[in-house]
Amino acid sequence: MTNATRVPLLIVGGGIGGMAAALAAARAGQQVRLLERAPAFTEIGAGLQVGPNAIRVLAGLGLYPQIEKVAVFPERGVFMDAVTGRHLTALDLGSGFRERYGAPYVVMHRSDLLDILLQACRDSDLVTLENGKEVTEVSDPASGAVHVNCADGSAYETEFLIGADGLNSAVRPLVVQDELVCSGYAAYRGTIPVGDAAEHIDGSSVVLWIGPGLHMIQYPIRRGELRNTVAVFRSDAFARGEDDWGGPDELDARFAGTCNQVRRGVQLVDRSRH
Ligand SMILES: Cc1cc2nc3c(=O)[nH]c(=O)nc-3n(C[C@H](O)[C@H](O)[C@H](O)COP(=O)(O)OP(=O)(O)OC[C@H]3O[C@@H](n4cnc5c(N)ncnc54)[C@H](O)[C@@H]3O)c2cc1C
Repeated sequence: MTNATRVPLLIVGGGIGGMAAALAAARAGQQVRLLERAPAFTEIGAGLQVGPNAIRVLAGLGLYPQIEKVAVFPERGVFMDAVTGRHLTALDLGSGFRERYGAPYVVMHRSDLLDILLQACRDSDLVTLENGKEVTEVSDPASGAVHVNCADGSAYETEFLIGADGLNSAVRPLVVQDELVCSGYAAYRGTIPVGDAAEHIDGSSVVLWIGPGLHMIQYPIRRGELRNTVAVFRSDAFARGEDDWGGPDELDARFAGTCNQVRRGVQLVDRSRH
């Protein structure tokens, strides 16, 4: 390969995984270059539950103070029956939970987390971020250095390659030749300012509504200023082998038999499809 840029460590994909990997490498004193196909670093969707295992990793990257400023630390996870509206059980996420798992359970806006990771990458002299770099071809590494080609004609040569390029990874086939398996579930998400909510919002809980072939989860994000709702259901149309499945009509039909609170929650989600 001619005119390939030689780098010691290359990461493909600038989502939460790729950025965290870049920071971990930098903290180990390693120079790293990250290629992202999108013209800018952005996250789709709003809310993210971050378990204590991930918080421990993020804290290890020195990011806990930034996370603390924007995240919400719920006191409990509440489980509700989506059909009857009955309270099922609750999980205490307070000090006992933190002690047991060595870190809190956190909910936050996806883009807040990505922005924190992005800023830390930009602040590091060891991390080089490049946008508009869609990796199209990765050579077999058995020969030694890995060769990586991008859609814009640029090329890289690296000793170490990390594939953090998501579901349709260009890197993964080098390691394993498997295929995606569709779960047949559809997820709809929506975020509203807390002040716009018609009913009282419990700002200290993550509430999970469970029903047959469906669930809905609601929690506060961004210092409690926004409320995130995610409605998930198993698609009958998918099970019947139909190409067009998981649409808003099926969402409404699936949730039609749920209690008032859940049906109101489903009205809050964004009906466009990504
Ligand atoms: C509805 C839903 C809810 C979820 N909720 C949670 C949750 O609450 N908590 C949780 O921990 N997880 C949750 N997850 C899972 C979580 O979102 C993913 O595990 C996580 O986003 C994966 O991050 P990633 O960086 O590995 O990949 P991605 O976020 O997919 O990022 C991959 C990046 O690689 C780039 N890329 C792709 N191909 C190329 C290429 N060829 N060249 C260059 N760049 C490329 C993409 O543009 C993208 O920026 C949820 C997932 C879904 C679908």
